[in-house]
Amino acid sequence: MFQLEPLHTPTLTLVAGLVLLTASGIMTLAGVAQRTYRGYWWWTAAQWGNTIAAAAMLLKDAHPAMLAASVFFSLQWPITMLGGMRRFYVRSPLPTSPWFDALFLIGGFLSWLWVWGINPDDVGARVATFSLINILGYLYCAWVIKAIRDWRHSPYLKAILCFLIGGALIQVPRLMTGVAGWGVSVSDQSYIQLPAVMLGLVVGAMFSVYMCLLLTYERTEHDLRESHRQLRVLADFDMLTQVPNRRHFNEIATQTMRLSAPGTTSLMLLDIDHFKQLNDHFGHAAGDEALKLVAGSARKMLRSRDLLGRLGGDEFIALLPETSVNDALHVADRMVRHVDAERSILEQSTLSLSFGVVQIMPGESLPEATHRADQALYEAKRQGRRRAVAAEDDDGEAVFTTTRPFGLSTY
Ligand code: GH3
Ligand code: MG
Repeated sequence: MFQLEPLHTPTLTLVAGLVLLTASGIMTLAGVAQRTYRGYWWWTAAQWGNTIAAAAMLLKDAHPAMLAASVFFSLQWPITMLGGMRRFYVRSPLPTSPWFDALFLIGGFLSWLWVWGINPDDVGARVATFSLINILGYLYCAWVIKAIRDWRHSPYLKAILCFLIGGALIQVPRLMTGVAGWGVSVSDQSYIQLPAVMLGLVVGAMFSVYMCLLLTYERTEHDLRESHRQLRVLADFDMLTQVPNRRHFNEIATQTMRLSAPGTTSLMLLDIDHFKQLNDHFGHAAGDEALKLVAGSARKMLRSRDLLGRLGGDEFIALLPETSVNDALHVADRMVRHVDAERSILEQSTLSLSFGVVQIMPGESLPEATHRADQALYEAKRQGRRRAVAAEDDDGEAVFTTTRPFGLSTY
């Protein structure tokens, strides 16, 4: 059996107090040295509260109020920690309000004061009441934390949850000895397992400090990943039309071409006709709307494995794997119809498109195919716009075989 008598309680409390002081100091210094999130200072306050509890415990013989202070500052720990969690996970709806937390703490403390007031010498009653309120505080805190959306994804939050439940369970024997000693006047207080409590407090304090720092680290890492993702989006996508820019399109299109069977992919360039005039007559904002409309229509008419990009200005590019030139011309036709249907929303009388389409030949690079598609597009413009022209290679010379003026015939 664990012998408690040789341990000198004030020395034990002093050692525990020093460890708690160190834990609070680490939290404070870490908070000052690095960027903190909402809630961090609540966690720090919870640790300082524990330190005050140990200091008050040391002085309890000097003044009875110190015992009450010690109890209050011990009971506050899970509730103040929870206050920090509420702020740290401010976007997560939680089942109770901070007011309920405050009521819980004040109600618990007043109950302890009441039991203490009835018989100040009844150590058993005091210990049992304190243990019960503390156990309920830990479990309440764990219950609320479990409602935080992130808890399944965060190993640290899970660890805190386990710690709170474990912290509640290890106090059960103390609650039971308290209940057993209720009403029995005992001078030797060792039966309240103070060393075990102190050890639990010290381990718990260090553990919770570590977990709070890890939660902060986890949040920083998450924020960095999110900024990195946003930067990538900014670097890879055209913000007006939300389609990949030229550089990103080239990257993903080259990859897609590598994975496709040679000679089965079509490349399409599309350009708005007389876009300068549209800008001049209707304004730059209307021009922007037209660009968004064209990009939206193109995206809707493409399959999920097709790729769309904005080359710049009013020129877009699409890569269509496993698509013949003829099928690509049908896609162009559908895009034009969609633009025509949607155009009425804008105050623009006309919005026509010209297309240049090629089948990428085996061994041909993306820039080479783009160059041929550009020639086909130029030919479409030359032939009067509002049409699609397909280019087929004939001994290195571009030959324009198919010309489809939109709006004149249906396909
Ligand atoms: P074409 O029929 O030969 O294509 O004639 P065009 O007037 O469309 O000529 P071009 O394709 O060279 O015109 C591109 C114009 O697009 C020039 C520029 O003012 C305009 N532009 C480029 N980027 C933007 C943009 O982001 N928003 C708007 N509103 N206009 C843009
Ligand atoms: Mg144009």
